[in-house]
Amino acid sequence: MSINSKNSKSLSKLENILIIGNGGRENSLAWVIQKNELVKKIYLIPGNAGSERINKCERIKIDINNKIELLEKLDFLKIDLIVIGPEKPLANGLADFLRKKNFKVFGPGKDGAKLEYSKSWAKEFMQDANIPTANFWKVKSLEEAKKVIYSSPNPLVVKVDGLASGKGVFIPDSIDECFKAAESIFNGKFGQSGEVVVLEERIQGPEVSVFALCDGKKYILLPTAQDHKRLNEKDKGPNTGGMGSYSPAPLLKEDDLNRIINEIIEPTIDELNKKNIDYKGVIYFGLMITNSGPKVIEYNCRFGDPECQTIMPLMDQNFVFLLEKCAMGNLTEGEKIYKSDQVSGCVIATSKGYPLDYKTGFPIKIGNIDSSSCQIFDSGTSLSKNGELLTDGGRVLSIVCQDINFDMVFEKVYKNLSEIHFDGIYFRNDIGHQVRENFSWEN
Ligand code: AMP
Repeated sequence: MSINSKNSKSLSKLENILIIGNGGRENSLAWVIQKNELVKKIYLIPGNAGSERINKCERIKIDINNKIELLEKLDFLKIDLIVIGPEKPLANGLADFLRKKNFKVFGPGKDGAKLEYSKSWAKEFMQDANIPTANFWKVKSLEEAKKVIYSSPNPLVVKVDGLASGKGVFIPDSIDECFKAAESIFNGKFGQSGEVVVLEERIQGPEVSVFALCDGKKYILLPTAQDHKRLNEKDKGPNTGGMGSYSPAPLLKEDDLNRIINEIIEPTIDELNKKNIDYKGVIYFGLMITNSGPKVIEYNCRFGDPECQTIMPLMDQNFVFLLEKCAMGNLTEGEKIYKSDQVSGCVIATSKGYPLDYKTGFPIKIGNIDSSSCQIFDSGTSLSKNGELLTDGGRVLSIVCQDINFDMVFEKVYKNLSEIHFDGIYFRNDIGHQVRENFSWEN
């Protein structure tokens, strides 16, 4: 059941929040959560060097796999709400463990996270619920894969079944390339994650991300977003964790969204219920709008990055209440997302060589930033012994800005990016090209 009006309130004490994760996504969640005056302190395990620049935030260095130490720390800090950012701890059942210890947790249990950590399970789930998606074949050996690949008239998309840090999808241009991709997976390139392979019909159309905050039974939709996954301009080059995004996605008109709700979102939530999965967290629907309607490309069990960094600045101080209500199974009839009327855009600055090999440890210099409706979210940074900000990842940081239209948003984003310097900095200049009226490839 969907929800769409009125205010939110906290259901209980909400002073101390814990966020698990170390990326730009978690920093953007911290940034929106700190807006609420009930929140006194936000702890991040482990966060990154940018986390403590955010109001009320403190990093904690403990290993989340050391359950005894983790529980002691959470009790000591009197944590009121836990938000789990990345897919791995969700797939490992961290949310189940913490819920059993009576913590309020935003993030699905292991059963719900399977939507992301097993692509073949997710495809069968969609099949069971009659949810539109590309045709697929689940194969468990190279022999089986070979039969399917060479009996298909066109090259199929090849997907590693398990988690692969965004690197497990191959979109070959020829049938032989398709076989080679399957061969590399069955040769062990992805370890256990690649013991099963999903072969998929290749479908066409623009992509859009839709996020539903879910309390187990009810849900509420966040503004839509579009991201740019390819490394290079004109959406060329290898897939990455995301080079930038914008929100909302004007591509989706009200009719399209209604169709997505009826054919995809509600059937997904109904099917979760049918399978007795009490999903408390965000469901990320990666969709492709094909000529025959919207189809699911993938589900994720957490917020997407950079979409999360783009959407969070549009949310107001009530956002944390929604996270809490989802955690408690308590979204109410008439709930509303309070959001700005502005639009938002994000560009990621990466290290030279990303997503393959890259070096880290380069000093980051930040010049004169126009900080009105602009945020810098660190994704991969650390501090030197002298407190100097250093690059510490492939995706280093992002600039996110909001304004009344996308031309103004991206003008600010790129002006601010020109004030950021580190050795080998790389970013795309064409993020949001679809929605920038003043954009031309010749600029
Ligand atoms: P995924 O990790 O499943 O989101 O896939 C990464 C990217 O591969 C998607 O964003 C799409 O651009 C592309 N992709 C995945 N599956 C298909 C498909 N069946 N047909 C065409 N493109 C696909």
